[in-house]
Amino acid sequence: MRIWVNGGLRDADDARLSVLDHGLTVGDGIFETVRTSEGRPFALTRHLDRLTRSARGLGLPDPDHDEVRRAVAAVIDANPVALGRLRITYTGGLSPLGSDRGDHGTSLVVALDGVSRRPDSTAVITVPWTRNERGALAGLKTTSYAENVVALARARERGASEALFPNTTDRLCEGTGSNVFVVLGGRVHTPPVASGCLAGITRALTVEWTGAEETDLPMDVLAEADEVFLTSTLRDVQAVHRVDGRELTPGIGPVTAKAMRIFAERASDDLDP
Ligand code: PLP
Repeated sequence: MRIWVNGGLRDADDARLSVLDHGLTVGDGIFETVRTSEGRPFALTRHLDRLTRSARGLGLPDPDHDEVRRAVAAVIDANPVALGRLRITYTGGLSPLGSDRGDHGTSLVVALDGVSRRPDSTAVITVPWTRNERGALAGLKTTSYAENVVALARARERGASEALFPNTTDRLCEGTGSNVFVVLGGRVHTPPVASGCLAGITRALTVEWTGAEETDLPMDVLAEADEVFLTSTLRDVQAVHRVDGRELTPGIGPVTAKAMRIFAERASDDLDP
C-alpha cells in the first residue's frame, strides 16, 4: 500500500510520522473517510469543507485543499481498487509531551484500502453512554474515536454491527460511525445536528433527496419505529432489521427500500467531478 505522508507518497512500511505527533499523544487531529469507486472519490468537496470546519473547531490551521486534492489523486493512482475507503487524517503535528499545541505545524496522511460492499441490512443496539451535544467537540470529526471503539465492541459482542447513542437529554443522536433515520407512520425522521450528531454527508444528501424531516426524537422512538435505517459514507443507506433484540419488518421496509433506491440512483450522478 502506498500512502501520502506530509508531502509525498511512501510505501506504508517506510512511512514515518513522529511518535510525538499530537494526533497520537493527545488525539488532537481530525479526519475524513471518503468512498472511492473505480478511482473516483465521492463528494470530495463536501468532505474537504467538513475537514476545514473540523479544523477550525479544534483550532488547527485550515488544511490546504489543493494539497489534499493532490494527495488524494496520488494515493488513488497508486492503489487501484474497485471500491475504496480513503482516509484523510490531519493532526496538530509534532509536539512536546504536553497537551499545549504550540506552533509545531500539522501532519497530513492520506491512505486508501479496498473494501467490500456493506450488507443491505444489519442489527443495532443502543448504548447507555451519551454524546455530549454541548461539548467542545460536538459535531467535529476528530480522531478521538475511542468512545466509538468501545461502543462498537459492545455491539459486536451482542451480534450487532452498530451502536446508537443518546445525547445528554436522552434524545436519539447517532451511531459510532453513522447517522440514524426512523420511519413513523410513513414519514422519515432523523435527529437534528443540534442533537450532537455529526453532520453526515450521506445524511445531508438523504435529507435533500428524500425529504426526510429533522426531528428531535426521544430514545424510546426506537421501540415503536416501523423502520430504521443508517447512513454513512461506506454504507450509503443501510436498513436495520433488529434494534436491541426487537425484530423490525422482515426484509427491508418499503420506505427504507425507496430511500436506498433514490440514494443509489442520485449518488451515481457525478456529484463531484
Ligand atoms: N456519525 C459519525 C460519528 C461518523 O463517524 C460518521 C462517519 O464516519 C457518520 C456519522 C456518517 O457521516 P458520513 O455520511 O459523512 O460518512
